[in-house]
Amino acid sequence: MTTLIFTHPDCLAHDTGPGHPEGPHRLAVIWEVLDRDEFKGLERRPAPEATTGQLARVHDRAYVDAVLAAMPVQGYHRLDGDTLLSPGSRGAILRAAGSVCAAVDAVMAGEATNAFCAVRPCGHHAEPARAMGFCVFNNVAVGALHARERHGLSRVAVVDFDVHHGNGTQAMFAQDAGLFFASTHQSPLYPGTGASWERGVADNILNLPLDPYSGSAEFRQAVERVILPALEAFAPELLLISAGFDAHARDPLAQLGLTGADFEWVTRKLVEVAERQCGNRVVSVLEGGYDETGLAEGCAAHLRALTRA
Ligand SMILES: [Zn+2]
Repeated sequence: MTTLIFTHPDCLAHDTGPGHPEGPHRLAVIWEVLDRDEFKGLERRPAPEATTGQLARVHDRAYVDAVLAAMPVQGYHRLDGDTLLSPGSRGAILRAAGSVCAAVDAVMAGEATNAFCAVRPCGHHAEPARAMGFCVFNNVAVGALHARERHGLSRVAVVDFDVHHGNGTQAMFAQDAGLFFASTHQSPLYPGTGASWERGVADNILNLPLDPYSGSAEFRQAVERVILPALEAFAPELLLISAGFDAHARDPLAQLGLTGADFEWVTRKLVEVAERQCGNRVVSVLEGGYDETGLAEGCAAHLRALTRA
């Protein structure tokens, strides 16, 4: 039993324009990490395209249809100030969401201990009917709803350690007591949501805003004292991770001070909860991370903890 990797070259074809922080180079960095001796033996599977039905579990059908109809033949189509579609985006956005569904299927079938989806664009800002912050479809939420409907699970948790608040995931989970969402994020920072008083319909939303320039100690304290006990109490049948590496000290879009050791630590702690609560079942999906060195360091640390589960 090991860690499965889901990825696809189509995710390189989502072109966000010159100088955009969420560019294809990010995935190239992660593929270099996957080619290292310690990870090159991991089985890689092609990320399949999500079906419209899978997307429509969390997104309004009209939104899904509108996005797919907006794909430009050349140039760019702007969905919001910093979220663009290019001619190659269709495969990327469908495979980013489809990868999480396929990873859930594989882990639920016992084909691997856990799985990591090395895909882009990221998804956690995408709301039911709105693209936001580089995100078009909410990959992790599509996976969570797929797990419930396809595998009959009643309690699915998402832990999001991206430096930005996962407002889209929260919007989709807040009214559903069978879904749990916990997020550490810098505040104030884009998108401005994620206050600690946003708790959901059954205290199933847990926000741990961190002041700018917080580091390892503040992050670990929030995870250890608040998130882990609440996650244990929720007793998930499957744990999903929104794995963003932009809380790394080198990241240009935020001011937290995490290092590779922190990403390895938090992953190990989450894997330990999954071992106790849900037969080790963890599916992780890439979110942000915009410094190449920080992204590589964070991702390698995350994979190291997943592969040792
Ligand atoms: Zn982010």
